[in-house]
Amino acid sequence: MANIILLGPPGAGKGTQARKLVDERGMVQLSTGDMLREAKTSGTEMGKKVAEVMDRGELVTDEIVIGLIEEKLSSGQGNGFIFDGFPRTLPQADALGRLLAKIGQKLDAVIEMRVDDEVLVHRISGRFTCGKCGEVYHDATKPTKVAGTCDVCGSTDLRRRADDNEESLRTRLMEYYKKTSPLIGYYYHAGDLFGVDGLAEIDDVAASVAAILDQQV
Ligand code: ADP
Ligand code: ADP
Ligand code: ZN
Repeated sequence: MANIILLGPPGAGKGTQARKLVDERGMVQLSTGDMLREAKTSGTEMGKKVAEVMDRGELVTDEIVIGLIEEKLSSGQGNGFIFDGFPRTLPQADALGRLLAKIGQKLDAVIEMRVDDEVLVHRISGRFTCGKCGEVYHDATKPTKVAGTCDVCGSTDLRRRADDNEESLRTRLMEYYKKTSPLIGYYYHAGDLFGVDGLAEIDDVAASVAAILDQQV
């Protein structure tokens, strides 16, 4: 059992790899992006508060996302947690360490998914997901087998994200470099950092991630 962070800019492939780990290892994916989008669509007060910030591509407050993670951590666990899109700031990283310690757990590996900025525009502009099961697709690199139908669950509710446009991506990248990339140094210093080539094919990235995990457990 291992608790890991998938770290990387928007479009690096965090969600794609997290889903594979859920399927193959029974780990639990904790995606703050998914949690915030859920709050947004369900129209809760918090959802309304974060909607515009997310659409612009800025980070929502540490307080909100730490609260979301704290709630999930206390509600049981499968075969280890995958933190996907969290932490994104140094205060979030500190909070995660504290929250894990509180439940007698620790972080086993931080996997940095290394990609070039140029591919991110292509990744983000071709991304769509299944509204029912959450499977992640891409127009060019991972299309559905039958146009308009999810391979996994058969749903025809395929969606594109409001923030997956070039302008918002530019802001998200800026946020990543300013606020999230310092975490690379933070976790390197802690001895938890591993890098994978995020530009490789999806299955090859998965093999690199698996090799890191198998060393850890
Ligand atoms: P991506 O797939 O582009 O990496 P996510 O789905 O993880 O994006 O996040 C979408 C948006 O949700 C972010 O641009 C940000 O507004 C908000 N968000 C998600 N996770 C966090 C976090 N840990 N801290 C602050 N904001 C977050
Ligand atoms: P993140 O969660 O880091 O924002 P996603 O997993 O949503 O990234 O991936 C972004 C887009 O790129 C999706 O459309 C996905 O299908 C595609 N993708 C993910 N990994 C790869 C890869 N290794 N090669 C090509 N396309 C990929
Ligand atoms: Zn589906």
